[in-house]
Amino acid sequence: MLEFNRWFVEQGHHDLYPNSKLPEKKIAVLTCMDTRLVELLPAALNFKNGDIKIIKNAGGIISHPFGSVMRSLLIAIYSLNVEDILVISHYGCSVQGMDASKLMPKILERGITQERIDFVKSCGVDLENWLKGFNCVEESVRETVSAIKNHPLIPANVNAYGFIMDPETGRLDPVRE
Ligand SMILES: [Zn+2]
Repeated sequence: MLEFNRWFVEQGHHDLYPNSKLPEKKIAVLTCMDTRLVELLPAALNFKNGDIKIIKNAGGIISHPFGSVMRSLLIAIYSLNVEDILVISHYGCSVQGMDASKLMPKILERGITQERIDFVKSCGVDLENWLKGFNCVEESVRETVSAIKNHPLIPANVNAYGFIMDPETGRLDPVRE
């Protein structure tokens, strides 16, 4: 990776990627970390370097109203002039139907002791709920859009829209409220 990076810089390939800290299109995208969307999502929506802010996590969700995703969105709005937020989930998401009880044996298998798990739980963390996936992708997108729109620190003139992308074709389906 580092070898490639040296070559990339030496060749001046960065010139192909226009630079701007402020998003040209005044859009922030919240989406899933799915590998299939890495290049497909921006390509399918004609987003180039410098156009948008992009926030990714497992499922493209907001798991806490004062967690890192909302924090990033607030910074995008108040520091970086974002006016529209697009929540883009996708069909066939691994987070859909994810069952925390199935993750627990894998966590133990990797050498995390039951004592440590119990310690985390004793600190008040509802691990099962925290690691749980969503059941319905449309419902998840609606909930996320609603969490943004109804957040006490989101200004009224910032809009949020929900979509689901087909990770094979890049087709974008709007999610009606
Ligand atoms: Zn996903």
